Amino acid sequence: MKILVINSGSSSIKYRLFDMTAKTVLASGLVEQIGEQQSRLIHQTRNDRGDMAESVKTEAVADHRAGFERIGAALTESGALTDPRELSAIGHRVVHGGEEFRNPTLINPKVIDTIRRLSPLAPLHNPANLLGIEVAMQSAPQVPQVAVFDTAFHQSLPQKAYRYAIPQDFYETHQVRRYGFHGTSHSYVARQAAKMLDRPLDRLNLITLHLGNGASASAVKGGKSIDTSMGMTPLEGLIMGTRSGDIDPAIIFYLKKKTGLAGDEIETLLNKHSGLKGICGANDMRAVEKQAQEGDRRAQLAIEMVCYRIKKYIGAYYAVLGRLDALVFTAGIGEKSPLIRAGCCRGMAHLGIEVDSEKNNRKGKEAFDIQSENSGVRILVIPTKEEYEIAKQTIGCIQNRFESESAP
Ligand code: ADP
Repeated sequence: MKILVINSGSSSIKYRLFDMTAKTVLASGLVEQIGEQQSRLIHQTRNDRGDMAESVKTEAVADHRAGFERIGAALTESGALTDPRELSAIGHRVVHGGEEFRNPTLINPKVIDTIRRLSPLAPLHNPANLLGIEVAMQSAPQVPQVAVFDTAFHQSLPQKAYRYAIPQDFYETHQVRRYGFHGTSHSYVARQAAKMLDRPLDRLNLITLHLGNGASASAVKGGKSIDTSMGMTPLEGLIMGTRSGDIDPAIIFYLKKKTGLAGDEIETLLNKHSGLKGICGANDMRAVEKQAQEGDRRAQLAIEMVCYRIKKYIGAYYAVLGRLDALVFTAGIGEKSPLIRAGCCRGMAHLGIEVDSEKNNRKGKEAFDIQSENSGVRILVIPTKEEYEIAKQTIGCIQNRFESESAP
């Protein structure tokens, strides 16, 4: 059973082809810098020895349609797929599902309209996701296509956690509320954590930390998200590569008055030029760590600030959960940076959170734990597998394992 997972962004399309029967990745890749002179297509296919062989092409890819054509060609030329009809389904990552989508949903024209209607809530993401859906539906009309939403897992938040303290009308008329993102990743690592702890998920209290270019924390009780750090948009919460995370909203009005910057310029400032990049000039954590090691004070401060913000969220969610069974680190930084993991757990032994530095320095592709012997709370490092999870949810949807969700 072959499932193709597509993550279509504003200037890139990522894809991964799974054989879900054998549970293997047959091919994966991305087309990036779409619309520019020098677009790149990176394609990996499993070769006869079972390794992933990579090819890189640089050429102009005018738009998403051309990007999909290149992906189709790469999949067929490499022998991973001879005909789109071999696909059992295509699963699309869709960032914003608003309050309308709580489950993976079979895509039809009504669903497309609803995702389009939700676009003002995620103007950077949903239009690009939709473009991917529309081109894929035209290219493979006979293949069922499923939307898997980043927001869906957090639809279990109680009102006290998802409402903002602004007049009710803005919630009712304009849907201003916390939605939360990275849901596929938070739910996947929560389930993996239960397996590692060998305990039922519905009895566990977890804090999951997805720390990649974008970053978010979630409080997960009994397998359900009860709070999360990203808000109406992915700008709120933790300090990220280029996003500020939490700030005093009054800063926006102050900047408008003081600098004359327009609203959309401030939006770009907070989304693209803030976070690690704003503090120390680099947005990639590996570069920030290197700069810090070489004595750059601004990079050292960026790391201190990132860890301090995460620590505050751990404290807050610990209080919300009442009891904490495990803290879970995932995504690029969470999986690979012992420095950040240690930094955000430092000084919390009195709360039962203590990292063992030797275990923490371990490297590996599999999940591992890093708590000390005295730590009452398990501290787990679990590689996220968002694409695989989307593929699984896609199968679940086409096989009607999930409640069928008719489009509103
Ligand atoms: P995305 O949100 O784009 O999926 P990833 O989950 O791939 O992001 O995470 C990217 C982040 O992980 C980058 O900041 C990168 O520097 C960081 N990262 C990757 N490897 C390491 C490493 N060995 N040490 C520290 N940070 C790392």
